[in-house]
Amino acid sequence: MPNDNAINLDRGDNNGESAGLNARVEGQSAELGVGLAAFEGQNAQLEAALRARDEAQAQLESELRDFQLLHSVSSMLIDEDNVDALYQKLVEVATTIMKSDFGSMQRYDEKRGELQFIGHKGLDEKSIEYWRWVRPGQATTCGKALELRQRVIVSNFEACDFLKGSPDLTEFRKANVRSAQSTPLITRGGRLVGMITTHWTRQTEPSARDFRLLDIVARQAADLIERNMVLEALRLQADRLVEADRHKNEFIATLAHELRNPLAPIRNGVAVLKIGNADQTPSVLAMMDRQLSQMVRLIDDLLDVSRMSRGDIEVKRELVDLASIIDSAVETSRPLISASKHDFTVAVPADVVWLEADKMRVAQAISNLLNNAAKYTPAGGKIELAARLIGKEVCIRVTDTGIGISAAALPKIFDLFMQVDGGAARSQNGLGVGLALSQKLAELHDGRIDVESAGEGLGATFTLRLPARVDALKNSIGG
Ligand code: ADP
Repeated sequence: MPNDNAINLDRGDNNGESAGLNARVEGQSAELGVGLAAFEGQNAQLEAALRARDEAQAQLESELRDFQLLHSVSSMLIDEDNVDALYQKLVEVATTIMKSDFGSMQRYDEKRGELQFIGHKGLDEKSIEYWRWVRPGQATTCGKALELRQRVIVSNFEACDFLKGSPDLTEFRKANVRSAQSTPLITRGGRLVGMITTHWTRQTEPSARDFRLLDIVARQAADLIERNMVLEALRLQADRLVEADRHKNEFIATLAHELRNPLAPIRNGVAVLKIGNADQTPSVLAMMDRQLSQMVRLIDDLLDVSRMSRGDIEVKRELVDLASIIDSAVETSRPLISASKHDFTVAVPADVVWLEADKMRVAQAISNLLNNAAKYTPAGGKIELAARLIGKEVCIRVTDTGIGISAAALPKIFDLFMQVDGGAARSQNGLGVGLALSQKLAELHDGRIDVESAGEGLGATFTLRLPARVDALKNSIGG
């Protein structure tokens, strides 16, 4: 029945055939659709993978650039020996990283508790002068960051609460600064050593990546500043040692000279006494006595210096009244003061003032001050000694109208072997130990000596301050 089949087919089963065909086509196109969707899906995946790859590559490239930048920064900073140039480079690196218009770097001064300007990029002289020192909490990003000890970012100065109405904001406007960030420089040991600030002429919002890089540079900057501070301290110490050594050498030369000086008149005196002229004897003996006293004083000072450097000067404290100490000092110094015909006045409190002190030693310190006043004041000058009780403190002030002390010499005046430059003309039978010794004696009594002078030719004032025994004063009044 093959024909039947054929007939059947011919007859009619055209409809059935096309339906089958349609079904097949539909089936195939459905398959194709699935295939296409799968392909599109794969395509999207591929595109996403490509995008991810591009992003990863861009990220890598950016990190590589950052890494190269940091690497070049480190080698540049390590190669730079000049401290100022180093700070300058750090500011430049910070402004590059932050894409800012200006930048500044400050050092933290621990004594003042303030930031000191040390380098900048792009700021004008007026701004530098205005912000040379910045205190904690001042209306600037660095002042705020100093107060908070953390980074401060202000992306729009005009909308910032702590800047509102401040003179600093007026200055920022004049300098065309609209936004800034300040990052504290903190060392590995956690010590604040400075601040790095970047400023923009527009509102800005730096990215996390910028801050990441800035933080790495800030850490390096902090360590470098700390290293330079240590080096600077060592340099200062070395300079002081060299200077102390120079003073010591000068001291030995002066000492030989000063010890020899009285010997010539003493030798002459001996020769005159040998001749046996009775008329001359009293004056010769007085002269020899003076010269011997001068020698004894020098040698006593020397012995005290050596005790002082060994740290074993002894003070024997007892209750003693101020007036008796002053009397003793004045008695020692009066001959020297009178010899130069100075106008000398002494003022002591009317009431008894008690001290717990070594009378001899405090009198020695005061007498040193009086002798200096006499030596460093041209003949016929004015010397005043005024002692007062101020609160619980005794203030003994010695003022002269003499040659004065320059501002440069004042801070070193109490150093051992220190003699103000001016050579032999200025040196007056001294070894440069009197003030160091007097200061030490004051310290051993829980006191101190301060000096003031308006400058050369304008006289000097030394003030010895010692604690008074106010309770003893009450007792003495009461009983
Ligand atoms: P010296 O033995 O040289 O006087 P001091 O230690 O007593 O040593 O003083 C140190 C230096 O301080 C002196 O060499 C002098 O230059 C200066 N000096 C001290 N007192 C006075 C004063 N009253 N007026 C001016 N200079 C002074």
